[in-house]
Amino acid sequence: MSASQSVNPIDPAEALRLRSDFPVLRQQVHGKPLVYLDNAATTQKPQVVIDRIANYYAHENGTVRRGVYKLSEQSTRDFDASRTKVAQFLNAASPSEIIFTRGTTESINLVAATYGRKFIQAGDHILISAMEHHANLVPWQQLCLEKDAVLQVVPITDAGEMDMDAFDRLLTDRVKLVAVGHVSNALGTVNPIREIIEKAHALDIPVLVDGAQSAPHMSVDLQALDCDFFTFSAHKLYGPTGVGILYGKMKYLEIMPPYQFGGDMIHSVSFEKTVFAKPPAKFEAGTPAIAEVIALATAVDYLSAIGLDRIGVYEHELLAYATAQMLEIPEVRLIGTASHKAGILSFTLKGAHPHDIGTILDREGIAIRAGHHCAQPVMERFGVPATARASFSFYNTREDIDALVKAVRIVVNLFN
Ligand code: PLP
Repeated sequence: MSASQSVNPIDPAEALRLRSDFPVLRQQVHGKPLVYLDNAATTQKPQVVIDRIANYYAHENGTVRRGVYKLSEQSTRDFDASRTKVAQFLNAASPSEIIFTRGTTESINLVAATYGRKFIQAGDHILISAMEHHANLVPWQQLCLEKDAVLQVVPITDAGEMDMDAFDRLLTDRVKLVAVGHVSNALGTVNPIREIIEKAHALDIPVLVDGAQSAPHMSVDLQALDCDFFTFSAHKLYGPTGVGILYGKMKYLEIMPPYQFGGDMIHSVSFEKTVFAKPPAKFEAGTPAIAEVIALATAVDYLSAIGLDRIGVYEHELLAYATAQMLEIPEVRLIGTASHKAGILSFTLKGAHPHDIGTILDREGIAIRAGHHCAQPVMERFGVPATARASFSFYNTREDIDALVKAVRIVVNLFN
């Protein structure tokens, strides 16, 4: 039975009802109703998340872990409860394996700066793919430069899929870390992450998964996946900006040195010596984004109530509907035609630069992304400077896609 048959689908009426939870979507842009199709960049926030932040600052604000008074104690409880909620959401073995960072970017930098600096040696290989976001490329490239290690890159096929024969060839015992995206933000490709993890583990190689584009759109079970690190950003999961999640298996967190030094990450301090706290505190120096972490738990509850499997199926239906319509326009070139894709549609148009597409669509009230999507090597691979990208959420509808396609036809007529 396919995933789409096994879940109770989100129907158009439910999508509209869900959309009404997002106040920002009620506005007009250039006199047209806003059609927000840049969900891979950031998602909008439901009223419950906005209320949670406002309520925190209006009635609850107190720093965590430091006070013995009611506001501080309650904030600490809610902050810790969010960690537990995220651990359950991802099915991590323990809340202590969840570290709060500022975003996916900081999470990957944390692993590179701690695990990487300690365990990667000259001549070692780090294996990434050619479709990585710069956040999962530059930290490893810079680490390799520092350590005289080698960054190996798995090429991608014309469809935008990872070349698994090349992966097999490059996965040698010189590889000390595999770092790959679960879903490509530039192409929409869903990578065969289980296979990648199993093959790497067969050689005892740890795997970091960049889940920035997967966690908000499909259910993730970390214990089933068995990856060693996993990361995503709250702002792409209908939560606030300024919060990232880094999951790490405890066996690694215990042997990794701290990332930053300061308050909250210590057990005891003297002028001669500091004993660091156990994970996760060891990696969370300083005052965290308290309101945002607490509101992330609200976003997780909101999404869980809808159901990640239902969201994935619905967004995939939108993708199929949009893909079929776009393919009817001869001037359209789809970039990323993998057989397994999430709700991301990257394209170029004959005669029009993606920035022109983005600007003209904006005049029609449609927000898409135009650019290299922080994945310049992907653009190079497909011989384009940039693409236009529409990315879908459960609050989008077929009418949104119709508006997109209509506006794309306007661009085609203007430039051809
Ligand atoms: N990785 C992927 C696949 C992404 O799509 C993004 C954001 O676009 C990032 C990493 C970086 O996320 P952030 O900017 O929230 O740190």
